[in-house]
Amino acid sequence: MSFEFADLPYDYNALEPYIDARTMEIHYDRHHRTYYNNFMNAVKDTEHADKSLDTILAEISSHSTAVRNNAGGFYNHNVYWNCMSASGGSASEALSSAINSTFGSNDELKDKMKAAGIGQFGSGFAWLIVKDGNLEVTSTPNQDNPLMDVADSQGHPILALDVWEHAYYLKYQNKRPDYIEAWWNVVNWDYVSRQYANATA
Ligand code: MN
Repeated sequence: MSFEFADLPYDYNALEPYIDARTMEIHYDRHHRTYYNNFMNAVKDTEHADKSLDTILAEISSHSTAVRNNAGGFYNHNVYWNCMSASGGSASEALSSAINSTFGSNDELKDKMKAAGIGQFGSGFAWLIVKDGNLEVTSTPNQDNPLMDVADSQGHPILALDVWEHAYYLKYQNKRPDYIEAWWNVVNWDYVSRQYANATA
């Protein structure tokens, strides 16, 4: 089995005051761990156990609901953790240029991500993806993601925003827009820029 449950790349309190330590601890150590455990249980002793996660996601319509929800949850949270850090740097020249030419400005990108996050009814994720070499903002319900063959818009995720209530409710309660505003302060642009470079290489 080659699916590693990776350490969180920073301490639980690293994203304070924007994302509180208690939220990060419960989110990582309970929610994320449960997705991982349930994913492992769903694929163990099956023909899928030795597949790559990318392959499983790309053919998710042929899998059980348990695999869809938990492979998605495991993948989505790994991207979400890596998309955040205490000192996020800034977008690369290539990514900045693509953001400006696609959306007009960084603020326009933020408005689009916010609208996607707020507009996702119930639980899900907002995403910045690379699709056919171009940037696009999209959202997915539950633990679906843009690598899945069931996604409305398929592409390679480079930035993930978790808008499940468990991501923000302790600190922000029902105020999802406030969480999204605060979240930009901890976006790891170095990571996002590397993902952009990989997805456009
Ligand atoms: Mn989550």
